Amino acid sequence: MTGRSIDGKAIAANVRASVAAAVKELPGQPALAVVLVGDDPASQVYVASKGKATVEAGMRSVEIKLPKETTQEDLIARVDALSRDPEIDGILVQLPLPKHISEPAVLAALDPLKDVDGLTELSAGKLVLGKPGLRPCTPVGCVILAKTERPDLTGANVVVIGRSILVGKPAALLFLEQNASVTIAHSKTRDLKMVCRGADILVAAVGRPEMVRGDWVRPGAIVIDVGTNRVPAPEKGEGKTKLVGDVAYAEAIEVAAAVSPSPGGVGPMTIACLLRNTVLAACVRRGWNIPSALG
Ligand code: NAP
Repeated sequence: MTGRSIDGKAIAANVRASVAAAVKELPGQPALAVVLVGDDPASQVYVASKGKATVEAGMRSVEIKLPKETTQEDLIARVDALSRDPEIDGILVQLPLPKHISEPAVLAALDPLKDVDGLTELSAGKLVLGKPGLRPCTPVGCVILAKTERPDLTGANVVVIGRSILVGKPAALLFLEQNASVTIAHSKTRDLKMVCRGADILVAAVGRPEMVRGDWVRPGAIVIDVGTNRVPAPEKGEGKTKLVGDVAYAEAIEVAAAVSPSPGGVGPMTIACLLRNTVLAACVRRGWNIPSALG
């Protein structure tokens, strides 16, 4: 049996189309500010694609690029200014930040009403309490992808490998919100392979290339690969690299009902959910009705 490949690009395109339709219904144009510190090539690509997607959805994109020597105080002052700017609806500080800057200190300066990445203490608290709020984009993308295969997640056994603030923990809480039974695995989990084999839905958010093998996957399971790992690709030429996920895709697809590949799965969903959050943030802060197109 060969499983289906979950087409994250196509599903993300649908979400982006609904966001673009929603923007047309609004009485004003939302604006998303993305702050990048330093010259990490991968972060530069992410920021550029977020900016392009924002404009394509009919919103205003503000890109703020700061040198890697930027002090924590300077960055906090920039985030604070964006938080106070009434024309800015969403603020995303591209992570990771240079080592001399404390991420929690910067996030503390971010107006929670503009926290489109869902990373502030208030957003995290609302998620834990089950209150409406801005949810982290990548985990929301994971749930949407899983639901394309299994619309009702009630009672599903979900295993999330990874417990980061950015992905693992919020993903676990979002699946719990869908009435799934959730296990969070991490580097200290005993017999990880057996834990994973119990999953109806297996979410890998580890950052270890192709760690999840085919025999970790329960036959008929749904596998969501969040990992993006750059590895050498000698087959493409000397010194070349490629991106692979945390899941050995070719093995997993032989066993699973469906696998969301990486790249091409969760990544596009993250950007689509960021755009959606920007519209939601604009509506809540400006007192606009949430457009019907947003669903
Ligand atoms: P992270 O902060 O480094 O967290 C990794 C998690 O994996 C930790 O909880 C860690 O456990 C766990 N882990 C590490 N080695 C393990 C092992 N051998 N067995 C079991 N668990 C292990 O990473 P992250 O920010 O969550 O990101 C995870 C991956 O997703 C990365 O590849 C990242 O690039 C990717 N990502 C993709 C997107 C996207 O949009 N596509 C967005 C965000 C992240 P401990 O807590 O015990 O150390």
